[in-house]
Amino acid sequence: ILKNRNVLSKMQENLNKKILSLLKNIGAAAEEMHYKAYVVGGFVRDLLMEKDNYDIDIVIEGDGAKFAVNYAKKHNAKVFVHKKFKTAVVSFDDGFKIDFATARTEYYVTPAAAPEVVESSVKSDLFRRDFTINAMAVRLDGAQFGLLLDFFMGQKDILDKKIRVLHSLSFVDDPSRAYRAIRFAVRFGFEIGSHTDRLIKHAESLDLFSRIIGQRQFLELKYILAEDGYLFALQLMNKYNMLRFYSTKIKYDDELINKFKRSEHLLNWYKIQFEEDIEVWRMRFNILFFPEKGENFISLIDKFELSSKEASILKDDHKYMEYAVSLFKRYKDHKPSFIYGVCSNLSVESALALAAVMGESKQDIIKDYLTEYKNVKIDLSGQDLIEAGIPKGPEIKKALDVLLKAKLDGIVNTKEDELLFIKNEFGV
Ligand code: ATP
Repeated sequence: ILKNRNVLSKMQENLNKKILSLLKNIGAAAEEMHYKAYVVGGFVRDLLMEKDNYDIDIVIEGDGAKFAVNYAKKHNAKVFVHKKFKTAVVSFDDGFKIDFATARTEYYVTPAAAPEVVESSVKSDLFRRDFTINAMAVRLDGAQFGLLLDFFMGQKDILDKKIRVLHSLSFVDDPSRAYRAIRFAVRFGFEIGSHTDRLIKHAESLDLFSRIIGQRQFLELKYILAEDGYLFALQLMNKYNMLRFYSTKIKYDDELINKFKRSEHLLNWYKIQFEEDIEVWRMRFNILFFPEKGENFISLIDKFELSSKEASILKDDHKYMEYAVSLFKRYKDHKPSFIYGVCSNLSVESALALAAVMGESKQDIIKDYLTEYKNVKIDLSGQDLIEAGIPKGPEIKKALDVLLKAKLDGIVNTKEDELLFIKNEFGV
């Protein structure tokens, strides 16, 4: 393994033409400005692992924001500059985006606070990164195009399948890296290196993870729950005693594992039935936090400081799951109209989570709801009812509800049935 080696042929073999020519363009533009340009981070990691990655992070030795502005102008793209961090995002008409940054060294004034930024070289820029596998760069300017820079043995750790930090204070600088370590470990089937493992345990004993709050705390969990290997990630979080920062009600035990396993079956079933993707992280989130009751759940979500839209989606999911569980417990007669009434406010993400937490006995009910009852529509319109003699106003809504129930329960089938039924019920 060479610290500096040429990966040009790897790029030519593995990158699609568009990406390859984009990187060449960036290199040429950098050369014109006498800057050095590098593609860095996850893109390089995934290139070496021969996995697709379309998130291009460019680091410029020079003024990254100025470079991005010039580059955008040349390519008729939009540019958004973040002056304080000397970064910029360039977006093309087709929605494709590239991130540009100025090579930087960060000084953490206090742990977990926003870092101070100064210009520097790519090596110190790479040194501030999270793991060796994410701390490599490929040079893009001039004749050096394709030169891999690997100062911290990232290639070796890819071969050894290890997640390793670059230095012992890494989690003090940014404790959220522990969540990232878990995420990458499960995504790639890598092991957390033994020193890094000890550092995470040490960080936990120093209570550093309690500093990760608000959106950051939420996002780290959301990303973990979006991974296929989320269950193993939760096991690791449990091992490091990190679940408690989210909720002391979460118990990583067989019961929880079984709920998640059921949810995976349900998810497969749903995908086959509807050929439609759902927010899987949200289904899993709903399962994980279901043990938190009412008010406690609400204050937990409030702590994440999400947008009001995001927060209310999660609160509604939880509220209607609790509602459904309590009604299913209270009433034993599960007529279709009852099931519809219980489930009609559930999102798909919460309906599947509900089926998973309630266990085998209720699964078929929720499946019936999603495949059948949810789509039942009556044939009569509000206008039809008015013409049949139902007075305008709240009576119409009442009539429509009664009719839908009758249809769900098979009491009416055709439009004629519906009209007769209404005439009988409402004496019109
Ligand atoms: P993903 O495929 O999940 O997007 P990624 O490695 O591209 O993986 P990002 O979160 O987009 O992840 O981060 C891009 C790069 O920025 C990383 O590869 C890493 O070099 C660096 N980075 C991100 N977060 C941190 C952090 N908390 N501390 C240090 N470096 C980080």
